[in-house]
Amino acid sequence: MKSVNFVNVKDENAIFDGQGWDALIVVTHSLKEIAFDEVRLFAEHAASVDKRVGKTTSLLLAPGLAGGKLIIAPVLAAEDDYQDVRIYGEAAKAGINMANASGSTRPLLLVVDSSEARFSFAKDVSALACAQALWQPLEKREAETDCVPIHEIGLFTLNDLGKKLSAIEVGKQLARDLCGTEPERMSAIHFSEYCQLAFEGSEIDIEVIDNIDLLTQDYPLLSGVARSSIAVPRHHPRVVKLAYCGEGEITRTFFFAGKGVIYDTGGADIKVAGGMAGMSRDKGGAAAVAGLMKTLSVLKPKGVRVVAQLGLVRNSIGSDAFVTDEIITSHANCRVRIGNTDAEGRLVLADLLSHLRIEAQCAIAPELYSVATLTGHVVRCYGGYTAIVENSVAKKEGIGLNLQKHAQQWAEPIECSSLRREDFQKIVDPSGAAQVLSSNNGPSATTARGHQYPAAFLLKASGLFEHGVNSELPLPFSHIDIAGSAVEGHPHYGSPTACPVASLVNYIIEG
Ligand SMILES: [Zn+2]
Repeated sequence: MKSVNFVNVKDENAIFDGQGWDALIVVTHSLKEIAFDEVRLFAEHAASVDKRVGKTTSLLLAPGLAGGKLIIAPVLAAEDDYQDVRIYGEAAKAGINMANASGSTRPLLLVVDSSEARFSFAKDVSALACAQALWQPLEKREAETDCVPIHEIGLFTLNDLGKKLSAIEVGKQLARDLCGTEPERMSAIHFSEYCQLAFEGSEIDIEVIDNIDLLTQDYPLLSGVARSSIAVPRHHPRVVKLAYCGEGEITRTFFFAGKGVIYDTGGADIKVAGGMAGMSRDKGGAAAVAGLMKTLSVLKPKGVRVVAQLGLVRNSIGSDAFVTDEIITSHANCRVRIGNTDAEGRLVLADLLSHLRIEAQCAIAPELYSVATLTGHVVRCYGGYTAIVENSVAKKEGIGLNLQKHAQQWAEPIECSSLRREDFQKIVDPSGAAQVLSSNNGPSATTARGHQYPAAFLLKASGLFEHGVNSELPLPFSHIDIAGSAVEGHPHYGSPTACPVASLVNYIIEG
């Protein structure tokens, strides 16, 4: 699992004599702002004979510069008030793709700083965008050993950014591999094994629950989803528990539940009319949480404890499949009527959150989260943006806004949604037989408040509802829906983004 490594380059001579770097990629909003005279003169001279230079990604022959190759990757529309730091990432991606296509294997990246606060992390975002562009699917890497030619990128920086960015990238790569791989190669069993391999010898404690009887007893909703997969041993579910404990006195504790639906057929409410393609990516939440833990294992932040549970399950269809109308009692002892078997992610999360709730009750300054590709509604509502839906306690503590601030800076923008009283009305079982209804029986994309009200369900079915602002032990909980942001490009087969690993890492480290 070799990921792209960022090497700090402080010596400006590297731009000229190469020092092993074979191309110079300049990401800039203005040719005039390039600080190195020789580089700027090359670029300005080229622009005087070809007006495209500075407006589109260009490769210039540049004798005397690293590798004799200068790639100008212009940042477009930086003066537009509505742009954000993603424009640096987009420029850098175009630059690294050109370097890669031209045969470079060790490019040097120079990002020209901007004075604007919204672009404070332009260098970090540009570097990570290069790694995102270079990532190749695991199936391809396993079949074609030399399909990733660039493993190292020099990052011209006066700080020590490289180490932190390399750590973020190793986590993002793990998240992309887990999310993006087809459902047999990355079955629940293989997902858990991939995690065991990734965390071998690291600071992360890992435990895999593979006993079906134990899962049925301790994760009844999750096991309901898994029921029709039990007939096929290679499709069996798993729960992966991960824990990180930093050095020194612990001052904050974070709990994450990750949705890892290995493949979502919709179950008995089967997805029709081609709606099933791409459903191997329904494990993006669990993948992102695993990636976050991987990065933490490298950065080793002090004073924080991070605990995660990943629910890995295949929502299959078969004669033993769970069906709508069934009532299943959750781990938190809440009788849940199944409203639609395609709304399976919330069932998986509710049991995971219930276990985390119990642990959180005796933790120092706990914060709980769920991360999931949960609804089509969030895509309908916000396009490609992540949504966060907080409970009353998290809202009061400003957790969503704080996370949104980090996410904005790290090019993983988040929209804050509000949980409303009507959301709790939507999960009332009309028959009165169950305490909650898991969902309505229509697609979330055509259901009003389709991405907000699942948070009401999660609170009720996990027992977290009892830990509101006025309770004896308030517990902040935030549900993060990444259905719109987990994959970029092609809607079914695009590249996994590992969103929101970078934001969560920085939120946890910076507070
Ligand atoms: Zn589903």
